[in-house]
Amino acid sequence: MSAAPRTAGPDLDFKMFDKILIANRGEIALRVLRAAKELGIATVAVHSTADANAMHVRLADESVCIGPPPARESYLNIPALIAACEITGADAVHPGYGFLSENARFAEILERHNIAFIGPKAEHIRSMGDKIEAKRTAKRLGIPCVPGSEGGVSDEAEALKIIREIGFPVIIKAASGGGGKGMKVVRNEEELPVLLATARSEAKANFGDDAVYIEKYLEKPRHIEIQVLGDGRGHAIHLGERDCSLQRRHQKVWEEGPSPALNAGERDRIGEICAKAMCELQYRGAGTIEFLYEDGEFYFIEMNTRIQVEHPVTEMITGIDLVNEQIRIAAGAPLSLKQSDIVIEGHAIECRVNAEHPANFRPSPGKIASFHTPGGLGVRVDSAAYQGYTIPPHYDSLVGKLIVHGRNRDECLMRLRRSLDEFVVDGVDTTLPLFRTLVRNPDILNGDYNIHWLEKFLAAGGMGEPQA
Ligand code: ADP
Repeated sequence: MSAAPRTAGPDLDFKMFDKILIANRGEIALRVLRAAKELGIATVAVHSTADANAMHVRLADESVCIGPPPARESYLNIPALIAACEITGADAVHPGYGFLSENARFAEILERHNIAFIGPKAEHIRSMGDKIEAKRTAKRLGIPCVPGSEGGVSDEAEALKIIREIGFPVIIKAASGGGGKGMKVVRNEEELPVLLATARSEAKANFGDDAVYIEKYLEKPRHIEIQVLGDGRGHAIHLGERDCSLQRRHQKVWEEGPSPALNAGERDRIGEICAKAMCELQYRGAGTIEFLYEDGEFYFIEMNTRIQVEHPVTEMITGIDLVNEQIRIAAGAPLSLKQSDIVIEGHAIECRVNAEHPANFRPSPGKIASFHTPGGLGVRVDSAAYQGYTIPPHYDSLVGKLIVHGRNRDECLMRLRRSLDEFVVDGVDTTLPLFRTLVRNPDILNGDYNIHWLEKFLAAGGMGEPQA
């Protein structure tokens, strides 16, 4: 007897891509390359002159140099990428994460050149890219939001009007913000004028847009996000949650699923709200709806319209290849899965291993003298590094992601402990010692942490050097 078919129905008429150009570098370029190879699709790597010896270039079928090291002249250079597609005859582009992955104009330009963008429709990238617009859309779709301003806030009087309704503390956020930059927590009326002005000028300097909005500041939330997949024609499913509460400077450090804080009922409730919203939006591709979770309530903060760094956590607990699904959907295939096909099994944890000092987080680019990755049952390492590889100073400092799966959280933690002890990266500083400490900490073992836990732990000298 064969296993029950996993298809939602007969495939519609669609043609799979012949050749995908991967507009990215590092581990995510390898991740996309692997999915494309399994589907029998040819691959094109692009690279800056700093990445001529990179692993993604070596493993792709073809490669094209698209410019000098600075990202704006290479990985963000749209004309160079279009030219690379035309030279190689690529019929689709996968943007990975970061770089042009949430650039609606890039998606539109590709489509004008008859090249498929492996991602959502441009209109959805655009509406979710503006965080004020995103919150409006979420609210309209019945997704619960953090109380706050309906739109942008331009002066103190306007800010105070909202604060009278929601109360201090509040957080001022940039409408075009990202990467955890430029958020200001305001605890009383005296602080407001200066912090509002600073938030606006920082937003202008960082994102070229001074629009800001106000939200209630939650004191002890967890960051919980829901993975979704939609076919762009009104079918969508959710694949459970990831808990990304362990953060430093609002950037994720450790992600796990399922969340130690949720029960099955809460998971189903928020998952169903998200899936229904994506059906209504006719969302296409993979996406993540991010929430803060406090006292049993979920509050939408933003949606990422791309594959995320932490997607392997979901892959490990569902067995579903999210990048394969992205490619199939972009080619016009129907969803290969129904909601009832999604079964969460066991527990997974991802550690983002960066080339940074484990206590003060100073970047540590340079040559990797020795490199040995852990293995064995339930252990996955997504990395483009190798022995002798020189980490260039121009890009992010991710050396690799260690993702571990176990039948339950305790088994996962046990396996993570020994995997971290096995992992060797010599020649540069890495955050491996931080994870070796975290995986033995009682709060972490109990799943008892919120978005402020890691900052407090570091400030208290948890890694030896108190933080400024
Ligand atoms: P970005 O797009 O810059 O990553 P997000 O809106 O996703 O910004 O928020 C990033 C992080 O900032 C969250 O995971 C959380 O730690 C913190 N944060 C955002 N909004 C609030 C809030 N209303 N209250 C408390 N913390 C918040």
